[in-house]
Amino acid sequence: MKVLILGSGGREHALAWAIRRSPRVSEVVCAPGNGGMAAQSRCVPANVGSLESMLALVEAEQPGLTVVGPELPLSLGIVDALIDRGFRVFGPTREAAMLETSKGFAKRFLQRHAIPTAGYAICTNREEMEQAVERFHPPIVVKADGLAAGKGVLICESRQAALEAAGGLFSGALLGAKEQQVIVEEFLTGEEISFLCLTDGKHVAPLVPAQDHKRIGEGDTGPNTGGMGVYSTDSLLDEGMQEWILHHIAQPTVQGMADEDTPFAGVLYCGLMMTAKGPQVLEFNARFGDPETQAILMRLESDLVEAMEACAEGRLSDTALRWTPGASACVIASSAGYPGSYKSGFPITGLDAAARIPGVEVFHSGTALNDGRIVTSGGRVLGVTAIGDDLTQALGLAYEAMNEIHFDGIYYRRDIGHRALKSKP
Ligand code: AMP
Repeated sequence: MKVLILGSGGREHALAWAIRRSPRVSEVVCAPGNGGMAAQSRCVPANVGSLESMLALVEAEQPGLTVVGPELPLSLGIVDALIDRGFRVFGPTREAAMLETSKGFAKRFLQRHAIPTAGYAICTNREEMEQAVERFHPPIVVKADGLAAGKGVLICESRQAALEAAGGLFSGALLGAKEQQVIVEEFLTGEEISFLCLTDGKHVAPLVPAQDHKRIGEGDTGPNTGGMGVYSTDSLLDEGMQEWILHHIAQPTVQGMADEDTPFAGVLYCGLMMTAKGPQVLEFNARFGDPETQAILMRLESDLVEAMEACAEGRLSDTALRWTPGASACVIASSAGYPGSYKSGFPITGLDAAARIPGVEVFHSGTALNDGRIVTSGGRVLGVTAIGDDLTQALGLAYEAMNEIHFDGIYYRRDIGHRALKSKP
């Protein structure tokens, strides 16, 4: 079977890597892909921001399965359009993806279904904001309703700062587009966990848990990024907690969406805060996370494609996912200046030496193939990923591989996994 993967980041490279391992797959096509994916699979040009471009590509390629990586094509309705044309596709419909594409929709949904989440108010103008901020103690969380590429959440130290942040979201000064709705939220404290599951709209199969590092600087300091590293260990969640999250968060979400006639199939990513009162939902994503996917898929032993087909066909209950015990870790190498402005086009060396280390995979995020040479082409450039018997070993291998890799201005955090290592020496 031919599988078409839409997207071009580290997440999609990891998906391509896992999908290629399936005996059911004869060809992987990446659209548009990146330098690393081009070295392993056929890449074709595509604009994932254009429904027309993607549909033309699927019609031309006739894949047996299309896998949608990023949120943008989901928000445009690529899944609905492909289902209408009789193609098999892994991902949620446009309405189901609103769990991610509208934070207001997600908060109302969580409240309707009594799924634990931070207290909130949804405001459409300054007067409503002024009333809402009185209900919360600083710090106050202010969120844009729509997709904001990780830039739509502001933690405000005073009510005045919250009002200013909301003003900037309404006027478009902060994100460019003018927000119609702004969400004000109670500030939660605790450890953050990424809990992802596959679902066919009815059944839920959890993936191994992960914890990511969003800040650019060591010690979790400095501005937020798309993610500078992530790790996955069994000890992030004990079995009782995993069951609790499954029964009180993941399953009620999938059931609630089905009951409301917007069944959600694909990957449901629950961003959770493990508070003193128990896990609470911070956000949903309607797709795999980046770089969580790189670390999680390294631990998947069973066939990803079989599970994705089961999701697309509503028969996930027949499928059991098998995982390698132990740990995995992914360390992101970024361009100097990221998450601000950065330069691209620098040749990358040492990739082969890094990949030769047993247990290591180097997933490309922002790279291009130029005259046979791999060069940098994005802010996040590589996700150096390793699997080990425990977190210390996985991190050791990832950093050993990172040591082999060079490009002008390379930056990576040297403290990925530090919280887990501190609590479990
Ligand atoms: P979100 O896109 O909603 O997941 O928010 C991005 C990040 O902002 C999260 O990963 C948290 O670190 C932080 N955040 C979001 N909501 C809250 C909250 N209610 N309390 C504390 N931190 C939050």
